[in-house]
Amino acid sequence: MKAEAEEKFREFLKNGKNRITPERFEVLNAALDYQGHFGADDLYIAMKKMNSSVSRATVYNTVELLEQCQIISKRNFGDNMNRYESCFGKMNHEHLVCTTCGKIIEFSTPRLEAIIEEVCRQNGFEMTNYTFNIFGKCSDKNCSKKDE
Ligand SMILES: [Zn+2]
Ligand SMILES: [Zn+2]
Repeated sequence: MKAEAEEKFREFLKNGKNRITPERFEVLNAALDYQGHFGADDLYIAMKKMNSSVSRATVYNTVELLEQCQIISKRNFGDNMNRYESCFGKMNHEHLVCTTCGKIIEFSTPRLEAIIEEVCRQNGFEMTNYTFNIFGKCSDKNCSKKDE
């Protein structure tokens, strides 16, 4: 799986006349290994903890390249912060976002996918990607507690 992502990224860098550097591949690997959703800064911090010497600027611009290359996708969970997640070899999925504690629950349902595909087809629309977030309160008792 990783080898495929590396190959795709290498092609992308070459075609875009971007330099192919080991640092960029280090960022790629860290992004693929990251569990869950991350901001560019989260990734930078995670890499620092693994004693990586890649600079913050490189992490930031490589994350952007990885998004353009569609190895990771950008998510916005309503707080104006860009977060990413690896979409390589992973199924499309949707998010339930708790606006109280910030917890994000992932789900996927083929029925929803079928509807989205149908809507695109009906409109002669070629989908590149989509995001679907449901905002609300999670089942945690501190979040769902009703005001009395
Ligand atoms: Zn919550
Ligand atoms: Zn997700």
